[in-house]
Amino acid sequence: MSTRILVIEDEEPLRLALCDALRDEGFEVSEAADGEEGLKHALSDAPEVVLLDLMLPKRDGFSVLRAMREDRLSSAVIILSARGEEWDRVQGFEFGADDYVVKPFSMRELLMRIRALLRRADGETPGMALEGGKLRFGEVIVDFAAYSLECAGVRHGLSRRELELLRFFLSNEGKTLERSTILDQVWGREEDPTPRTVDMHVLKLRKKIEADPEAPRHIQTVHGVGYRFSRKGESVR
Ligand code: CA
Repeated sequence: MSTRILVIEDEEPLRLALCDALRDEGFEVSEAADGEEGLKHALSDAPEVVLLDLMLPKRDGFSVLRAMREDRLSSAVIILSARGEEWDRVQGFEFGADDYVVKPFSMRELLMRIRALLRRADGETPGMALEGGKLRFGEVIVDFAAYSLECAGVRHGLSRRELELLRFFLSNEGKTLERSTILDQVWGREEDPTPRTVDMHVLKLRKKIEADPEAPRHIQTVHGVGYRFSRKGESVR
């Protein structure tokens, strides 16, 4: 049986283009043009993947997502949004989204993310949204609202910057991230940090999320470039 994907998007040309491209890739695709209809399809079909727009008629994307999770629907959810602000990323993960793409995105990028999610769903320890705005990956449970995390039963506070850095890693899993990209995205241009600032914060995060900070499995160093994040925790050997 082929993988089922539900596309909830009110912009018709985009919805049709997505559906066509996904069908070409061999997925079984269903679609909805508003939030009510989308939620109904999600609950009745339990698709493996849901592509969810945020600004939707009748019921917005966050409300659809929350209702899906309240109903214990475990579909992987990728949020599609024109709004690229931090607020959305935070809310998306707090409400249990698995990934996030900002419009306009390329079909190739979206397909890569869908495949990554499906691979992750096959693994033993996928990143998992928990109740109360928490997110689990590996041994770590992040509490975004409380600026803290728990790793192997030990609780650690997080500075705002550490939390933002971790959030950035989570939303860019598997990508090699240059220090300059991390600086732009997490620190912004109004401040004057140096690439060393990133390294310092990575060190602090590693002490909180890695079983052995000297042999990190989640935040890996890509020598001469930057870092790459893995929720599952890749072996360094
Ligand atoms: Ca929309």
